Amino acid sequence: MMPSPKPTQIQHYLGGTLISTSDEQTLPVESPTDGSILGELTLARQGSLNQAVEAARNAFDSWKSLPSKERVQPLFRFKQLAESHIDELSTLVSAENGKTPAEAEAGIRKGLEVVEYACSLPAIEKGALLEVSSGVDCYSRRFPLGVVAGVSPFNFPAMVPLWMFPLAIACGNTFILKPSEKVPMTPLRIAELLKEAGLPAGVFNVLQGNRSTVEAMLDHPEITALSFVGSTPAAKAVYQRGVQTGKRILALGGAKNHLVAVPDADVEITAKNVTSSATGCAGQRCMAASVLILVGDCDRILEAICNEMRHIVPGKNLGAIINLEAKNRIEDYISRAETNGAKILVDGRGATVAGKEQGHYVGPTVIDGVHPSSDCACDEIFGPVLTVLRVKTLEEALQIENANPYGNAASIYTTNGATARYFEMHASAGMIGVNIGVPVPREPFSFGGWNDSRFGAGDITGEDGLRFWTKEKKITQKWSVTAAQNWMS
Ligand code: NAD
Repeated sequence: MMPSPKPTQIQHYLGGTLISTSDEQTLPVESPTDGSILGELTLARQGSLNQAVEAARNAFDSWKSLPSKERVQPLFRFKQLAESHIDELSTLVSAENGKTPAEAEAGIRKGLEVVEYACSLPAIEKGALLEVSSGVDCYSRRFPLGVVAGVSPFNFPAMVPLWMFPLAIACGNTFILKPSEKVPMTPLRIAELLKEAGLPAGVFNVLQGNRSTVEAMLDHPEITALSFVGSTPAAKAVYQRGVQTGKRILALGGAKNHLVAVPDADVEITAKNVTSSATGCAGQRCMAASVLILVGDCDRILEAICNEMRHIVPGKNLGAIINLEAKNRIEDYISRAETNGAKILVDGRGATVAGKEQGHYVGPTVIDGVHPSSDCACDEIFGPVLTVLRVKTLEEALQIENANPYGNAASIYTTNGATARYFEMHASAGMIGVNIGVPVPREPFSFGGWNDSRFGAGDITGEDGLRFWTKEKKITQKWSVTAAQNWMS
């Protein structure tokens, strides 16, 4: 019998080269679509972390010395290269994450908008100057922080890293990305494209690892700032540990997004939009619809949503769940709700895809008749599951939305402008949708939630992103000896 081929080793990318060390533990990486093993991931130990920091430190001085107009040139070229390799990148994202190819492509293109924004840095950061006293000028200049890092989750293998590194490196930092151990391959292809685009070695590095790697990064004295995206418990832990070691930390966490429909909502638009929000990326996105609150008589809307949901087919227009553990967790939520008396209007349990029996799929699911305090109405389920609550007034809907600890997104479906505006003013979330169930702001507006969906200050993209990755120096100067003296100069 022929020996089975050795699985591909998924390595670190440090200082411009792929690197692995024989003493590091490995972890199989499985494709959620069909259960096949894509490769063996190397988990970084302290030695590789030190090597990553050294590579980034060595690149920092010359990189930061370039004017921003020169630093963004490789990013312009990277964007073009990524676009010309979009099919290859989408296939990779799809294979390791389980998204449909169309969803994978949409995520990459959204991430590339941040590259485009980063390329505009020289136009944005032209600075300000004011004569603050006779003959005395005050102005400011931004400086990079040094070696910085990003830690990303499994659900957007390209997009979330693209929220982080383009801004960080355009600002003159050198960057270490620790991708999710479940989707470590796409960032390596991104690293190769950056190299081809002319980015100097050591400016962008990929360190493969898990929670322990992140903890070691947080404890490393030479990493000055870290941007994190993941679940709320991890985000909170990362924020607390990072600030204790004096780092600048922004940690985005999980979500439980509420969509509210009122009787005057357009039935067809609402049904299509709620369905795609709840089932897109198999519900594994922090902006997904999770709870639908129906105000008053909205039976027609719910019926239309259930009909739309039945057109969502696993393996066709619904992607896979990241692994078996996650699939079981999602199905347990549905079963517990049923045991507690809920009606499962559309049931996605037990879904399989012909020819991909080892893949992990949950079909679209609608749960009705639960109490607002039940776990399926409160917890982040992270699957294609919509929990329906019914209330009499918009005020009651807002009370439920406001009481949930998260605050990423909230949306209203209505044809009445005053209702929409009232909702916009009173929902407790950082991103609000009006007749849009995934209200992701497009550049130059920035991405970020409120409450337990974010630890640290500011949003991750846009101007807040530029502020996060830089420190400001204020300069006060007087050149004229004849300028009047006053109390401050
Ligand atoms: P996760 O928290 O399990 O892992 C995220 C990253 O953190 C991974 O790289 C992992 O290795 C690392 N990690 C895990 N536990 C850690 C810990 N205790 N300390 C330090 N590092 C740790 O998240 P996930 O399952 O990969 O991703 C899904 C979660 O991410 C969901 O909760 C989702 O809502 C959230 N998410 C949020 C946003 C946002 O913008 N707010 C965007 C995407 C995903």
